Amino acid sequence: MAETEPASAVLPAAQEGILRRQSLRESAARTYARSLPIVPVRARGLTIEGADGRRYLDCLSGAGTLTLGHNHPVVLEAIKKVIDSGAPLHVLDLATPVKDAFITELFATLPRELADNARVQFCGPAGTDAVEAALKLVRTATGRSGLLAFTGAYHGMTAGALDASGGAQDVRVTRLPYPYDYRCPYGVGGERGAELSARWTESLLDDPKGGVTSPAGMILEPVQGEGGVIPAPDTWLRRMREITAARSIPLIADEVQTGVGRTGTFWAVEHSGVVPDVMVMSKAIGGSLPLAVLVYRADLDVWPPGAHAGTFRGNQLAMAAGAATLAYVREHRLAERAGVLGARMLGQLQGLAADHPCIGDVRGRGLMIGIELVDPDAAERTVAGVPPAAPALAAAVQQECLDRGLIVELGGRHSSVVRLLPPLTLTDDQAAAVLDRLADALSAAERSPQRRQRTGQSH
Ligand code: PMP
Repeated sequence: MAETEPASAVLPAAQEGILRRQSLRESAARTYARSLPIVPVRARGLTIEGADGRRYLDCLSGAGTLTLGHNHPVVLEAIKKVIDSGAPLHVLDLATPVKDAFITELFATLPRELADNARVQFCGPAGTDAVEAALKLVRTATGRSGLLAFTGAYHGMTAGALDASGGAQDVRVTRLPYPYDYRCPYGVGGERGAELSARWTESLLDDPKGGVTSPAGMILEPVQGEGGVIPAPDTWLRRMREITAARSIPLIADEVQTGVGRTGTFWAVEHSGVVPDVMVMSKAIGGSLPLAVLVYRADLDVWPPGAHAGTFRGNQLAMAAGAATLAYVREHRLAERAGVLGARMLGQLQGLAADHPCIGDVRGRGLMIGIELVDPDAAERTVAGVPPAAPALAAAVQQECLDRGLIVELGGRHSSVVRLLPPLTLTDDQAAAVLDRLADALSAAERSPQRRQRTGQSH
């Protein structure tokens, strides 16, 4: 946003009214709005401006959607072009030039082996819709009903996606250990911990008395996002590919959050060279507008016409914005940029950890970064040398960040992981400003146990 532009016309009092009415009229289940009581009125790039004129550096990015930041010129241009052309905005799943161009651009980004022989299904516009479609696809194709999914997973909020997520209990879902280096269930971490997770998976699948419902597929996130920014080691991912391939179990990669350059490659599976059978995509592929698809091996395409219908599968503006975003990321090599800048930021955060014992772990891949906060003084609750999570401190850090004009997300098993998901267009100066504000916020939260207490209770 140009500094010369006038501040918003909405007065702080009006902002207060909007927030008050929100708390009276909107659902108790609202989420981000609770910890981020701001009223955005304008945004550009990394910056959001509230109705009170305050500006924030936005490292939440629409939960990882805004790969190019807010209102990127190429996205706006693509949207305007469709509007000015007089093209229909709503077309169910009919063919259009806009959709044709989107698919061509999408296929150009896919791993070669998949792109050469892929089908794409347009489903409802949310990530969870694509997960549902993927589950139905593999259940139809294999005739089996079970599902293999992982501890700490997050796949969405509709019934099937929720079942596949870590918090659920569903008899058809077999829960397998995701390799979590810092809190390794085997107490060893690293490659060894990941290998033990793989062995557990293998032995369970081959145990006739293992209690596994015959699996139609295995669904995994190459980097768990909501689960606390946990990158899976490449060797483990390759093991999952071998294990599933050997047993004719389709492997579904949920790239809803990791896709479109975020982790340092266009799709996160590329780090390991693994080619999944099904890829689930949403968030960034719509260039900030709602869009979700699944892409899968053509031989899985045995479901009948109408097997997965839906009204909102033809959002032309989202496809145009999405195609422009995919092309921009590709042409400007933003995945590489995310890898380089992300590695540098991780290094700086690791330096910060040396001065703050409450930082238990710093991890991530590309511009998907997590800082796990712990209570280093709770020796009695320390497991295998790892202190307990500190959710109240994490909530206080989030509030201190907001006070300093920085929006961050929380995640992780205990909501104790501070998450950064900045746009891939982040400049070096902006990255420095984000880390400075975060460091100040951390120091302030550590110093202020009262706020910690209050914030912790309100969550
Ligand atoms: N899968 C993953 C990996 C996600 O991170 C999310 C959302 N955070 C979803 C699925 C669900 O997407 P949506 O919220 O659009 O339904």
